[in-house]
Amino acid sequence: MLWIASLWLLWASSILGAPVNKQRQKVLLISFDGFRWDYDRDVDTPNLDKMAKDGVKALYVTPPYLTITSPTHFTLLTGRYIENHGVIHNMWFNTTTTEKMPYYQTLFINEWWDNGTLPIWITAQRQGLKAGSLHFPGTASSYQGQVAMVREWEPPLYNYKNETTWRENTDKVMGWFRDQDLDFISFYFGEPDGTGHRYGPDSPERQEMVKQVDRTVGYIRQSAEQHGLSGHLNIIITADHGMSTVYRNGLVEEITLTKIPGFSFGDLSFHLVDYGPSGMLLPKPGMLEKVYNALKGAHPHLHVFKKEEMPERLHFAKNDRILPIILWADPGYVINGYFPVQFNKGEHGFDNEDMEMKPFFRAVGPAFHKNLEVGPFETVNIYPLMCHILGIQPEVNDGHLNATKHMLVTSATTRDKNMNLLQNVFTGLAAVAGFLVVVFIVMTSHKILKNKRKNKRSENSEHLPKNEKTKQTSL
Ligand SMILES: [Zn+2]
Repeated sequence: MLWIASLWLLWASSILGAPVNKQRQKVLLISFDGFRWDYDRDVDTPNLDKMAKDGVKALYVTPPYLTITSPTHFTLLTGRYIENHGVIHNMWFNTTTTEKMPYYQTLFINEWWDNGTLPIWITAQRQGLKAGSLHFPGTASSYQGQVAMVREWEPPLYNYKNETTWRENTDKVMGWFRDQDLDFISFYFGEPDGTGHRYGPDSPERQEMVKQVDRTVGYIRQSAEQHGLSGHLNIIITADHGMSTVYRNGLVEEITLTKIPGFSFGDLSFHLVDYGPSGMLLPKPGMLEKVYNALKGAHPHLHVFKKEEMPERLHFAKNDRILPIILWADPGYVINGYFPVQFNKGEHGFDNEDMEMKPFFRAVGPAFHKNLEVGPFETVNIYPLMCHILGIQPEVNDGHLNATKHMLVTSATTRDKNMNLLQNVFTGLAAVAGFLVVVFIVMTSHKILKNKRKNKRSENSEHLPKNEKTKQTSL
């Protein structure tokens, strides 16, 4: 009987101790602003290559339109197209007062960001996780009165390209994961965007900056290891948009709105131009057709749309903040207002179908396959992927887990795994209980048999009540 008991106990304990994911998986979302999908093709990037070998690499990803920094980053954090999350531009503006705020100042205007869509930090925290953010656009704002529990934004006139600071920030983020047990952190680097704008995407300066990014990717993985995080930390590295070379006069006929016959700024109440290749116009009452007809077809590389005519695929129309006329230029061109004032050699903000607007994507960690290269997908799908790994219920979003699920080693979420753990505990306890019942039955039967034999031996009827009592117990 003893060997049966031992076997039973062994089985029960093996179920209780079955390998399950006892520690929740963590996610680090990193954006290297303006890192185009093919920037690793003309530069040696040993660390990015190693990351692809140890994890997943997508050929490229497609950002939402409008392909500029704040709107596309907010898509990473929410999984919503820009018309749905409402952070439609880097610049806050007021069409009545005609005020505009540049990118950095807009980071602090709560109403611009807190616009009905919750970023992943808040959703994670509401479901019992801990979230943080370092320099990621949207970090400085609160959402329905809540903020990421650990956060830091860059000071004004911040030097976005200092490699030493990048390393310090990396160690800070890893420290937050280890010491404060955060589950999710978004982490932003302002390069290679700055260098791409200034020198152009084909410049040796951009190549040098990509080397710096690559060294930093190596440092990030090394720091994760040193902080004891590699076993449960998933690192996703991507960007907000790509970069395209701008051509100057002499090479091309530049787009300058005042040079277009029939167009006048006097017909507008408000405009957002001189911002790379994109623009938005609010004509004065009754002037919409005049403005539209003057601009439509005026330049072979200028696209002019009434808001309601915008191609559906761009998902950039159905929001009150989007102005009635939307303009964008083909790659190589920018839209100037009165005269050319834009001198960047590289720009973004073009159609998201243009290959030069596509960012890169790498992911590594226990949730991801190793040495897997996947096809392109839209960046709206990164949000449901992150929620899945974290085991949280996503908010309503425009992404689909099906678009990225094949990158994961298992479709089981942390929550599923926790459910499995519970089931295993119950099965284990049931096994132990079953074992105890069997032991009880065997022992009691043994006792009954013993008593019966005793009763047979003494043929006196005075023992009968005791015998009855025992019988009763055995029932
Ligand atoms: Zn950007």
